[in-house]
Amino acid sequence: MKKTASFCLILALVLTACACGSREKTDTKTFFLMDTFLSITLYGEADASLYSEVNSIVSAIEAKASRTLTTSEVYAFNHADDGYTFSDEMAMLIERALAMSEATGGAYDITVAPLVELWNIKEATQPVREEAVAEALTKVGYQQLTLSGNTLTKIDPDVTLDLGSLAKGYALEKAKHYLEEQNAVGILNFGGNVALVGAKSDGSPWRVSLRDPFSADRTKGQLSLTAGVVSVSGDYERYFEADGVRYHHIISPFDGYPVQGVHSVAVCSSDALEADMLSTALFVMGQASAAAFYESGMYEFEYIMTLSQDETIVSEGLDGVYTE
Ligand code: ADP
Ligand code: MG
Repeated sequence: MKKTASFCLILALVLTACACGSREKTDTKTFFLMDTFLSITLYGEADASLYSEVNSIVSAIEAKASRTLTTSEVYAFNHADDGYTFSDEMAMLIERALAMSEATGGAYDITVAPLVELWNIKEATQPVREEAVAEALTKVGYQQLTLSGNTLTKIDPDVTLDLGSLAKGYALEKAKHYLEEQNAVGILNFGGNVALVGAKSDGSPWRVSLRDPFSADRTKGQLSLTAGVVSVSGDYERYFEADGVRYHHIISPFDGYPVQGVHSVAVCSSDALEADMLSTALFVMGQASAAAFYESGMYEFEYIMTLSQDETIVSEGLDGVYTE
């Protein structure tokens, strides 16, 4: 049900983009990979091989980065006692993720895997026991990791990785580059990570509608962009509710619980990997820390954070770009 709702949004997004452009022909293909819908819309007479190559790019990353595929590099590390030597590509991703952990004071942490597994948001209907959270928390902490060359070692053998917060963003970055090299024009949406590829022939900006976190079939706000990516993290994608509390898939590495008080974060950036990590990180940081982090200028991005039905934070750089 939740999946269907977000799939509708994907289509809505794309339709908006088409309606605002010229009468040029567009075609959309959708794949289910990385546990989410990927939609690829290309303008003009796009060769079918462009879609299948994007599919291959994403599949190849999933094969290395999945936590559940037993042949993946992440699986090998998670089941090793002390460490594992990753491919160049995966080592680069881990390095970027560890830098993000440092920069965000641990709000962003790819060692949240034991908590992700414990909460099992996709299937659960009840919150987990406090003792179980405390126990899982002992296995969480990026400080447990050391990357030396391509070899990642861990102090505690129970430390494991979950790259769910960045894999789609990285796949999007690679797909975008590939399509740009092919001079393609279009819009990609990988489960809430949107990339604008090339420029529309009439020169008009792309319009990206954001979903209303409080209503599955409504949009709230629109971005008008000429390039770049938008990554959205929301508490409405995967969740269950119990006693009035929404338990969802973005987890605080500080207390082990799904983060409360933020409902969605959209990040605009020129880099899809960074945008994906940042949307998760800012969600965990919350209003005050996210604002301070933005002000620090450590990373170049803009953001929109929904705190409640009538409170939305919009960063300065989006003046005239974001409208509600
Ligand atoms: P989505 O995958 O729905 O687009 P995100 O990009 O925000 O949403 O990523 C959420 C995923 O990231 C979770 O499903 C989990 O695998 C992982 N995750 C959860 N909490 C954290 C965290 N504090 N730091 C890093 N990764 C996290
Ligand atoms: Mg993310």
